[in-house]
Amino acid sequence: MPWKILRACFALPVWALCTLMALSTVTLLPPRVRAQSGEAETFQRDSKQAIDEAYTEHIRKYTTAPALNSPLTDYLPVSTTVPTPAKVLGDVAGAPDVLPYAEDVYRYFRLLAAASPRVRVFTIGHSEEGREMIAVAVADAALLDHAKENSSRLAQLGDPKSLKLDDSKAQALVDRSFPIYYITGTIHSPETGAPTALMELAYRLAVDNAPYVQYIRTHLITLITPVVEVDGRDRMVDVYKWHKAHPGENWPHLIYWGHYVGHDNNRDAMAMTLELSKNVLNTYLEWHAQVLHDLHESVPFLYDNTVGDGPYNSWIDPILTNEWSMIASDNMARMQAFGMPGAFTHGSFDTWSPGYLMFMAAFHNGISRLYETFGNGGADTEKRVLSPDEYSRTWYRPNPPYPTVLWSQRDNNNYEQTALLTSLSYFAHNSKLFLNNFYLKSKRSVEKPANGGPAAYVLAQDARFLNRQIQLLKVLALQHVEIQRLTQAATVALPPPPHKEGEEPKLETPPPPTSQTFPAGSFVIRMDQPFSRIADALLDRQYWSPEDPQKEPYDDTGWSFGDLFNAKVSRVTDSHILAAPMSPVTDVTQITLGDAGAGPFYVVNNSAQVSLASLVYALRGAADVSISDVNFESDGQKFAAGSLIIGGVEVSKLTSLLKQYDLAAVSIAGRPAVKLHFAEAPRIAFMHTWLGTQSEGWWRMAFDKLHVPFAYINTQTVSKESDLRARYDVIVFAPVGYASGQRIVDGLPMWGNALPWQTTSLTPNLGKLDSTEDIRPGLGEAGVAHLRDFVQQGGLLITAEDTAEFAIEEGLAPGVFVAPRKEARVVGSVLNSAVVNGKQPLAYGYDGPVPLYSADGMAFTVSNLTLNYHLLTAKDYKRPTGRGSADDEDIPQGREFEKAPPLPAPKAWEATPLNEEQQRNNPYLIPAEYRPQVILRYAEMKDLLLSGLLANGDSVAEHPAVVVAHFGKGDVVLFANDPLYRGETIGSYALVFNAILNFGHLK
Ligand SMILES: [Zn+2]
Repeated sequence: MPWKILRACFALPVWALCTLMALSTVTLLPPRVRAQSGEAETFQRDSKQAIDEAYTEHIRKYTTAPALNSPLTDYLPVSTTVPTPAKVLGDVAGAPDVLPYAEDVYRYFRLLAAASPRVRVFTIGHSEEGREMIAVAVADAALLDHAKENSSRLAQLGDPKSLKLDDSKAQALVDRSFPIYYITGTIHSPETGAPTALMELAYRLAVDNAPYVQYIRTHLITLITPVVEVDGRDRMVDVYKWHKAHPGENWPHLIYWGHYVGHDNNRDAMAMTLELSKNVLNTYLEWHAQVLHDLHESVPFLYDNTVGDGPYNSWIDPILTNEWSMIASDNMARMQAFGMPGAFTHGSFDTWSPGYLMFMAAFHNGISRLYETFGNGGADTEKRVLSPDEYSRTWYRPNPPYPTVLWSQRDNNNYEQTALLTSLSYFAHNSKLFLNNFYLKSKRSVEKPANGGPAAYVLAQDARFLNRQIQLLKVLALQHVEIQRLTQAATVALPPPPHKEGEEPKLETPPPPTSQTFPAGSFVIRMDQPFSRIADALLDRQYWSPEDPQKEPYDDTGWSFGDLFNAKVSRVTDSHILAAPMSPVTDVTQITLGDAGAGPFYVVNNSAQVSLASLVYALRGAADVSISDVNFESDGQKFAAGSLIIGGVEVSKLTSLLKQYDLAAVSIAGRPAVKLHFAEAPRIAFMHTWLGTQSEGWWRMAFDKLHVPFAYINTQTVSKESDLRARYDVIVFAPVGYASGQRIVDGLPMWGNALPWQTTSLTPNLGKLDSTEDIRPGLGEAGVAHLRDFVQQGGLLITAEDTAEFAIEEGLAPGVFVAPRKEARVVGSVLNSAVVNGKQPLAYGYDGPVPLYSADGMAFTVSNLTLNYHLLTAKDYKRPTGRGSADDEDIPQGREFEKAPPLPAPKAWEATPLNEEQQRNNPYLIPAEYRPQVILRYAEMKDLLLSGLLANGDSVAEHPAVVVAHFGKGDVVLFANDPLYRGETIGSYALVFNAILNFGHLK
């Protein structure tokens, strides 16, 4: 393929470029720095230091082939005072059958810290389930003793405004400072090797007297979080123990990694919803680290994927992309010199989405790095059979992995440690260069308005958007982004509208506005701040060209938070905004939404806030809450349908709840005489499968964070529970993740042994969230029948993506079908939609376009028939040969002309009406009151794409996106989008909670 040839041509220049770049940067620096980077490293051992013979012998024994180790890690130096990992593990790091719990890993690091002045251990926070997370600092005691002063110097380099952008001051700080290299392990729980590799790495850094190790520990602090996903680690160790106790049997896959999500915990660096994300970022920024290096295991044998492949993220500093190449070039060159097969840095991973944990560094002026090494998902030594794309020799992988290999956890630990040690050595030898780059990147972040721009983003003061704006500001605050608020109105010039080449300028009436005024109280995200890049990347829009040579985007292609939060965010290029009077918002939880007044009644206007349901559930039994069915006016104020009318409430209770949930209420004198219904806070069951719990995990997290209570049940419970309706009003069936209806019904194949997920003395960490003696059985035909009864008897079933498809296949959504995707290409994009039926409670509070997250361009069609049968429309009909033109009527000769009734011309989101002939004695015809209602439909093609990739979108444009189907006495809500996704889709949350709050009123 041509692009690959192009890539190959780039191979040489990239390497050459790195060298040139290093040289050119070096010439700008003082002599001291130049001298530093000239040193060559030999990685010689200290011949005077004795080795731990027994430990070394075990390393040799567990390494499956000599080439799978290096001179750096094929021995362990001995210490009379400092314990080796064997003290806790009972064997060497990476030994077969040994997989330590997080607390064992921590115990070792604490023993190490007690024995060596070169090691310190810190608690950095806790997980959702209360497990501790730690960071371990390793360096010469002199560095650790001065870590605080060093940190304050790094803080100044990282905030060049504090230095008034004075390069000479920065240089003086660089000269006196040393960098922090932060390594994180096992965020992905089935990728199990990192904790033991990092235990041994810390020992080496503390004990080994090899000159290169001494150089590392006297020139930088290595910071280590050995277990990032600590809840998942403990569950993974349980699963591994179960496997060892049941030889010859299949073992359960890791159903739950973290409390909420699995693999996606490494997609949380944008919305920052998980404790691990907050803990790692806070640690990274408290230490003012320069590198965040995250360890993974999925690729043989070591893929430094930070160089990866294009497209690269648009918002990072070019200095960074070259730092990736510089470090990786040296790193891979060392691995080649050691003769270790399968080490490479180019590959298919694109560096577009910033959701990865490592990207926290990329967007906070540091360096993101990531290794994929090879792992067996446990500590078994196994024969691994690779696929051709893994073992073939390519231009970027001249010494590829073996086609088949006996692989051990020790092999993994050899690779991880060797590559890390050489990286640390390179970084230590170039520490001044990288510190200088850290300053430069920070400075250029502050200078953004004057260079690439924009000047700022503004969230216009608007009560209808404020609740969602606050959710967005909370994310920015977690990202350590500075937020300001206008104290007076500010007017900025608008750039002229984009003019497409060859297009006649449009004569618009009225002409497009040339300026925009933001009222006082609007929030301003200035781009002249150190962390402008993360704010810019989140708030800007993304464009992934359909022609991009990268045909397999690694993750989402669009994520524009202003859209996904539906938060009215403006990108301002006019730098006058920076001179507008504004004051800092130091605590986003203290943004006031106004005084609710003295009652006796209160109205919370519905503007599609995320948290109306939170308030209703919190007031259950403590107030009299109704929901208006129509728009209304009271005491001269206008309120939208779906607004909450609250009476009989204690003012202090209401006030504190409003504050907690970022809501505003207004007092009215009496209960308004409008059509309303009691807000009954329905009983919710949240049903998951045993196939996968990640997509539902994001939904579950949204419910938990909003304090909307539910019973957590699974498909097996439903197969046994014949009277669901007696117990629940609403069943939420969140997406499973590309599961067919048949898989949901069948579960896993039933041959082989049972696969339990239960709390036992052998597996104390399993079975807590939910449990089963066998994860294999699915929903079953009985479960389907019970769900059908539930809806028929008046229950509400909420589905999305694959579970919507399941509801359709099982006949629960008469008249709704999945639109054939045809050639459409959508990969995690933000698409626009419009409200079709504003009177339907799901749409309450939405009064404009609604941006939606679409994973793959799924959309619906609706019909007045239960069959997916295409009825002829005006669009389909092509007249036969005859008189006149294609648009004229043909006229039969010799008789009076009989004009045919017009064929129906429905919109893509509408059902085709049937004529009398088609309706007569038609058992498939859905009675009018049972026909599906389309709530949202995707925008027309020209307005469809907001962010990301969209090609051939005809099967998406204008098609239904959110539909309510009616079955028996109940309703089924179907989302073609994912409305509760990764904490990023705040703007569509209210669609789900509107449905729940208005249970029983959706017809
Ligand atoms: Zn991973």
